[in-house]
Amino acid sequence: MCSKTRGSSALTDKFDVAVVGAGPAGLTAAIRLRQLGRSVLVLHRVRPRPSRVEALTPGVADILRYLRADGVLADAGATLVHRHRVAWATHDAVTREPKAGEASLLVQRHRFDKELAEAALAHGVLFRPSSRMIAIESSGEQQLIRYAHDGFERVVLAKHVLEATGRPRAAKRKQLGPSLIAISASFEVVAGIECEMLVEALDDGWVWAARQPGQALHVTAFGDPGQVHLRWPGDPQRALSAMLASSAYLGQLGDAGVFEGGLRCGLVRLRGLASRRPLEVGR
Ligand SMILES: Cc1cc2nc3c(=O)[nH]c(=O)nc-3n(C[C@H](O)[C@H](O)[C@H](O)COP(=O)(O)OP(=O)(O)OC[C@H]3O[C@@H](n4cnc5c(N)ncnc54)[C@H](O)[C@@H]3O)c2cc1C
Repeated sequence: MCSKTRGSSALTDKFDVAVVGAGPAGLTAAIRLRQLGRSVLVLHRVRPRPSRVEALTPGVADILRYLRADGVLADAGATLVHRHRVAWATHDAVTREPKAGEASLLVQRHRFDKELAEAALAHGVLFRPSSRMIAIESSGEQQLIRYAHDGFERVVLAKHVLEATGRPRAAKRKQLGPSLIAISASFEVVAGIECEMLVEALDDGWVWAARQPGQALHVTAFGDPGQVHLRWPGDPQRALSAMLASSAYLGQLGDAGVFEGGLRCGLVRLRGLASRRPLEVGR
């Protein structure tokens, strides 16, 4: 992500569109709007993106191709996942090999966002970093966006505002299930763990693991927050090791104990639009 204002103009400038948030949603929209000839300002608060691996759906490549920004994936070092290993109901894993064109893409999320921001800059998108949007107010035909920057409140005018601030702020979204605790760690390359992506049920939760060729193995274990707190209070590393001990594929990581880049721990809430009709089970 840009660390300082690049391509910035005077604070009194007016824009066709002000995009709030520089995640994939905001940046891809900003690129497209520039291609349609609109002036675009992206306001974003700078929060370093954790260096976690994410699996992108194949459709992402199509979207980037449409935006003529397909170089982003190569520049971000994205790799195709050719093998999925799923061990859910039993320890006998099913290996799936996605068909051509259906494979997921593994990407280091902070690199992906950085390359996408570079592509937006190349398209003439203006950025105003370290800017936290406070409120949006209508002012005649213009939208007035209040934002905090360098400890001061500032304003910018735009005909339209695109709020792309991510899920936590998304309106009308309901929590769809109980919260989970997610404990993530990166392990240096460990011999014997060949899979590119693994989903496995554990005794105390489940685990998602992925590795890009020649790179660290990224592991995220999910469990019940109350149980984890009760059994391993204040010790996520021990919790992760204990949870992985029941894994048929990652059990040895518990002993490896070598974490590259530390451990991350947080609550995950699955949010979405609640279905209008109740789900009919068993049909
Ligand atoms: C642990 C974890 C693992 C995940 N794994 C995957 C995965 O494997 N595959 C996958 O497809 N998805 C995954 N996701 C989900 C994925 O990260 C999100 O769906 C995606 O980031 C959403 O993109 P976005 O652009 O809508 O929002 P974000 O990427 O959240 O971007 C929103 C931006 O807006 C900024 N912002 C927020 N409020 C303000 C404000 N008031 N003013 C200015 N800026 C603001 C934020 O700082 C942020 O930079 C994962 C998420 C988590 C937490």
